[in-house]
This record gives sequence, C-alpha cells and structure tokens, in this order.
Amino acid sequence: MNKVALVTGGTRGIGESISKLLNENNYTVIASYNSNDEAAQKFASKNEIEIKKWDVSSYEETKIAIEKLKSKYGQIDILVNNAGITKDAPLHKMKKEKWDAVINVNLNSIFNLTSNVINDMRDNGFGRIIHISSVNGQKGQFGQTNYSATKAAMEGFSKSLALESASKGITSNVISPGYINTEMVAAIREDILSSIIETIPAKRLGESNEIAEMVLYLVSEKAGYINGATFSINGGLYMD
Ligand code: NDP
Repeated sequence: MNKVALVTGGTRGIGESISKLLNENNYTVIASYNSNDEAAQKFASKNEIEIKKWDVSSYEETKIAIEKLKSKYGQIDILVNNAGITKDAPLHKMKKEKWDAVINVNLNSIFNLTSNVINDMRDNGFGRIIHISSVNGQKGQFGQTNYSATKAAMEGFSKSLALESASKGITSNVISPGYINTEMVAAIREDILSSIIETIPAKRLGESNEIAEMVLYLVSEKAGYINGATFSINGGLYMD
C-alpha cells in the first residue's frame, strides 16, 4: 500500500513541487492550503492529489482536519511542515500583529501538525517528518526577526523530536532553502532581489524542484539513518 504524505502549503510554490514529486513516486499525497482557493483549484485540476483547506495556525482546525484524513486514509506516514509566511518589518517598527501572525503560522503550526500525527507514527514504527526552514533562520535577515526566529526554532524542535522518536522508526529532519523562485520571493522588490542574487555564489535563484528532490530522498525507507539533520540548499549563500 502507498505511504500517505501530508504536505502543508502543498498547493503552491515549494509545497506544490513536493506534493507533485511525491505523488509521481507513488505516495498518496494530501496538499493543504489556507485561503487561495484559485491556486488550490488550479493545482487540483492538474493533479490527482486531494487538497484540504484549513489554517494550520489553529490547533483545533488542525486536529479536526487530521482526524478526518485519518478516517479516510488510515494513517499519516509522512508529514512535510512546509506552510509558511513572511510579515517583514525591522523590530523597531514591528507591530505585535506581525510578530504573532508569523509565530503562529510558521512555528505553532509545527506543534499543531506534528503532535497530532506522532502517536500513530510511534505505534506504527515508521514516520518521516520534514520541516522546511530557511537560510534566514540560520544567518538572520534585516526585517525578519519574527521569520528568522521561527525558522531557527524549527531546528531545535526537529532535533529534540529526533531524540524522542528515533527508536520508533521515525526521522525528523530540516531542509533549509536559500532563495527559491516562488511567489514569496517574487514579492521582494526587484532591485533588492537583484542585489540578493548578486550575493549568491550560484548567481541564480533555486528552483522548487531542487527542494522537492531532497524531500523525496529523506522520506524514503533508504533514509532511515538520517535523523536530526539540517540540509542547506542555498547555492552556497550560507555554509555552516
Ligand atoms: P508560498 O507563499 O508560495 O506558498 C505558501 C503555502 O503555504 C501556500 O500553499 C499557502 O496557502 C500555505 N499557507 C500559508 N499560510 C497558511 C496557513 N495559515 N495555513 C495553511 N496553509 C498556509 O511559499 P513558498 O513556497 O515560497 O515557501 C514554502 C516554505 O518554504 C515556507 O515555509 C517558506 O518560509 C519556506 N522558504 C521559502 C523560500 C523561498 O525562497 N521561497 C526560502 C526559504 C524558505 P494559500 O495558497 O492558501 O495561501
């Protein structure tokens, strides 16, 4: 039987590539999204992948959504915590609403999702959990105290989870992309984006598929000994 993979924010951008690549490789995929029905419908019309709409920053909505998915699919074997947002401002100008929104969507969501699938994974003796972080969580970025804090926090979460769950056949790993060619990056002002690309040793943006390929490997049975690791995919922009 196909393994079941839940990809949050799986209908657009990096998540869309992850959903498609897993689906092409015989995983049963559910792609979640929040509000962009048009993009989600377009995605659904082109792919045989179930889409499911809810706000991952809500614990209650997440719990209900996962219960429904479990009653349909039996279990979630693979979780890709990919949904994320930015709401930039330098800290001296940042309103609490921007801070709270980013913490809730990017960080609280990973508790909401992971805590609702982890017990079944432990009972089944198999699980793959991937967290999509960011280079800006590793190196910091002007205007992104909120975003960088959430992305750095993912690494601590992932490593602790790896320690707790490795003996149950579960792996928890982080992928930390650099600047990837998606709508999130297209929203950056053109002159700022050009100057960012100048600083990337590869002199180009990454493509969503370059992230998806790493996910595909990490969720496979072959990758069972890779745990608590972080994989930077950033064209050489930041090395640690
Ligand atoms: P996009 O903005 O293209 O897509 C974001 C996806 O997340 C959408 O499907 C969106 O749903 C979903 N989403 C947002 N908020 C919520 C929510 N509250 N509940 C459920 N789903 C939600 O993002 P990217 O593909 O660019 O980024 C994906 C991940 O990769 C993010 O975590 C981002 O931080 C990270 N990343 C991206 C980089 C880049 O260069 N693009 C670089 C480094 C990291 P909807 O369509 O309904 O809005």
